[in-house]
Parts: sequence; C-alpha cells; structure tokens
Amino acid sequence: MVTVTAVRGDITRQRVDAIVNAANNAMRGGGGVDGAIHRAGGRAILDDCIARFPDGLRTGDAGWTTAGDLPATWVIHTVGPNYAAGERDRGLLESCYRRALEVADQIGARSVSFPLISAGVYAWPLNDAIDAAVTTIAKTPTRVEEVVVVSFSEDTHRRVQPQVHRLFPPA
Ligand code: ADP
Repeated sequence: MVTVTAVRGDITRQRVDAIVNAANNAMRGGGGVDGAIHRAGGRAILDDCIARFPDGLRTGDAGWTTAGDLPATWVIHTVGPNYAAGERDRGLLESCYRRALEVADQIGARSVSFPLISAGVYAWPLNDAIDAAVTTIAKTPTRVEEVVVVSFSEDTHRRVQPQVHRLFPPA
C-alpha cells in the first residue's frame, strides 16, 4: 500500500530512491526543475540521457537515468504535455505519473518524489495539475511504498496538501 505525503522543498535535496524530472522531448536538460536536477546532479545525468535516449522521449512517457551526485539513486524523467503550446490532453499528463511509477517498479525504487509535472513553464492550470497528480498516483497499482509530492513554493504546497490529504488521509 502506497503512502503519499506533500512537502515544500527542492526536489534535488530529497533522500529517496528516485526523484522524477519534468523533462522535455529532447532529454538534454532545460529550465525549471529539469535545469535544477541537471545542475545539482552533474554531467553524469546528461551523459546517461544521451546514451539511453538518443532520440529523446515522447510526451507522456518516462525513462530512468543515474542521479549522478544527487542523494537519490535514480532520476526518472518524464515529459509532460506543454499546455502553453496547445497540448491539453489530460490523458498525457496522467500517463506521466503512471509511466513514472511503472519505471520505478522496473528499477525497484520503493520511495519516489514527484514535482508537479507541466505546472511550471508548460503552464498546466495548477489545480488540475494537482488533481491529475494525486488521482493518478492513487489509482496506479505499484510496488512503490512511499510517494512524496514536492512543491517548490509555499503557495503551491498550500494547494497540494489538502488534495493529498483528501485521498491519503494522514494516520
Ligand atoms: P514543466 O515544463 O513541466 O512545466 P517546470 O520545471 O517549469 O516544468 O515546473 C514544474 C513544477 O516544478 C513547477 O511547479 C515548478 O515550480 C516546480 N519546480 C521548479 N524547480 C523545482 C525544484 N528544484 N524542486 C521542486 N519543484 C520545482
């Protein structure tokens, strides 16, 4: 049974088996959380991206690399739909969470931290991005035991926490 909690913080500092990256199709680094992960994790993450994803990654899909110098063991990269560019199929956003959990099962990660995929530069409306995250994590069968939804800002965290508590009441 998975436990889900919400925290405010920097995902690069999370001590979990795997952190999830909101990457882009090219898989060569970018802005936002992607930039923060590549900066903090070092060159090893980019080298692994180049080796494992020579053609990048499709929107809604996920795959893993080393976490380089980060405290986590793996980075699970997923590509959210770019709402700002007209990609507005919520199924693609849900697929990111589902595929990331499938990849976690594949590599044996038991604790996983997620950022709010597509909720930054890709501009998915925040409340719906939170709902997609929490409901998809709730309905995806997985061997992951601990999921942490990490919000960078206090304001976002204040909106995430009640939605997490609604589906995963604290003990
Ligand atoms: P996208 O392009 O998928 O929208 P962004 O990186 O722009 O991805 O934003 C996704 C979410 O990650 C946003 O809510 C943003 O505030 C948040 N974020 C940015 N940096 C970090 C970080 N270091 N740790 C956790 N969340 C972060």
